[in-house]
Amino acid sequence: MPKLRKSLKILAAAGFLLWLADGFLLMRSESPRSAPAPDPGLSPRYSGAIHIHSTYSDGGGTVADIVRAGQNAGPDFLVLTDHDTMQPLLDGHQGYHDGLLLLVGEEVNTSAGHLLALGVGRDVDQDGPLGLPALVEEISESGGVSIAAHPTGRRPWTDWTVEDMDGLELLNGNSEWRDDGVLELLRALVFLPFMPDGVFNSLVDRPDEAIRLWMHRARRQPVTVIGSLDAHERIPLWGDRHLSFPTYERLFGLIRTYVITGTELTGEVGVDEEILVNAIHRGSCYVVLEGYEPAYGFSFELTMGPETKSMGSSVAFQDGGRLHVTAPSSGPVRIRLYRNGVPLIETEGHELFVEVPGRGVYHTEVYQLRSTLLRGERQRIWIISNAIRVE
Ligand SMILES: [Zn+2]
Ligand SMILES: [Zn+2]
Repeated sequence: MPKLRKSLKILAAAGFLLWLADGFLLMRSESPRSAPAPDPGLSPRYSGAIHIHSTYSDGGGTVADIVRAGQNAGPDFLVLTDHDTMQPLLDGHQGYHDGLLLLVGEEVNTSAGHLLALGVGRDVDQDGPLGLPALVEEISESGGVSIAAHPTGRRPWTDWTVEDMDGLELLNGNSEWRDDGVLELLRALVFLPFMPDGVFNSLVDRPDEAIRLWMHRARRQPVTVIGSLDAHERIPLWGDRHLSFPTYERLFGLIRTYVITGTELTGEVGVDEEILVNAIHRGSCYVVLEGYEPAYGFSFELTMGPETKSMGSSVAFQDGGRLHVTAPSSGPVRIRLYRNGVPLIETEGHELFVEVPGRGVYHTEVYQLRSTLLRGERQRIWIISNAIRVE
């Protein structure tokens, strides 16, 4: 009997060591890469950390804390979206803070879930249980953008019939870990103090369900997708105690939305807000898992006849049109092109050219290829483009 117990103990210890070794190699394979310098001829683009909560609602940090975190993490702009308040705008927080642009939007509590209202410039609200279409119309008429927040999260978006709604969040920094298993979360906790970059990256997966919802809606109308943070830097504990985790700075470096503006920002807040919001509105943007590698060099374009169009465009079909994806990276990547949400063609390389086979909603995803000794090669989502519609 003691012999059997001893063997079991040795077996358990060996299993635990293997689990640790696998976790260590996995987290190491998830570490950040530095990006090659982007082609200077590319259209101007700006990376933003969108969907941030401050102490104006249920966030743990003040606007000053958020700006400081933004300056350390390095996005070009931040979008504050406190729950049901535009007070930060009235208090004069929107603007450039030592070169970092802070825009103030709002996360509106509606009958169908949480709705981000960007670029509206004033407080908006749903009026009564049937007031959702009117709210969305009001946002649109004020030149703003309406985006369904965490559509597949704990508080999902439930009404996709609203005509004018502009888009949805594909990633949400606050929901990402919720779909992971207990063992995965336990492993994350064990390695968090030693390999935080790898741990955070490892928790972000391709948002299959949100992509499915996006494509379902995109068959009928243009839909913008963004990558969001839902950054709170606050996990409530008991009483009024809380844990300041995950930090704003961490999340600002994890997921970003890159906005292709087609024109340089001017340094004037009102003008620049309009440039960015209009570009998001037309879907001229892409989602990046920034924790792997910045993606200022990415492009997804369609050349049809004499015209070249980028994400967010709708183009009439002609024979001979070509789709072109470029995804410069310092490591191996896989580019996959989708038509109506279905994989069409893929390549292991930094560039993909393909003739447009017909009408459809085209988008592309770029995966980073990361391998470990025990698991071999894994493809990890890095970039998700907005769509180009061929009609
Ligand atoms: Zn929310
Ligand atoms: Zn939120």
